Amino acid sequence: MSPESITADQVWTWLEGVPDPEIPVISIVDLGVVRDVVCANESVTVTITPTYSGCPAMAVIAEDIKLALEKRGVVSVELVTKIAPPWTTDWLSEKGKARLEDYGIAPPRQTGVPERCPNCHATTVTKVSQFGSTPCKAQWRCDDCLEPFDYFKCL
Ligand SMILES: [Zn+2]
Repeated sequence: MSPESITADQVWTWLEGVPDPEIPVISIVDLGVVRDVVCANESVTVTITPTYSGCPAMAVIAEDIKLALEKRGVVSVELVTKIAPPWTTDWLSEKGKARLEDYGIAPPRQTGVPERCPNCHATTVTKVSQFGSTPCKAQWRCDDCLEPFDYFKCL
């Protein structure tokens, strides 16, 4: 593919194939990290916004984006990190939220309380710990099936 024929739509599709390093079931596009794609001349500029500050995944994400585009013949990939407006869990796509739940992680909610147990969908849940397997998650337990689960904290 010649670089001139690369469109932003094409790049978005490729980026949908780049998984989040921490939660590989959702792509960085579904996570809402990719804000903008601009194709000009022979280079592609991708604007990304970091998720939770202190998440070390951003360096990995930047590297993965470069690799994914270079693999498709993009000669020059430029990454721009934009920290304002800050990323919020509202930027998670509906598809991303559904995938989180399928993966056993309760998606974020404005109330700060998971809607239901991702395993059995019971709605009576109890917080176990403010910190789960990563700082982005809290640990909860289902009162029904008694299974512990991660809750993706709302931001
Ligand atoms: Zn349950």
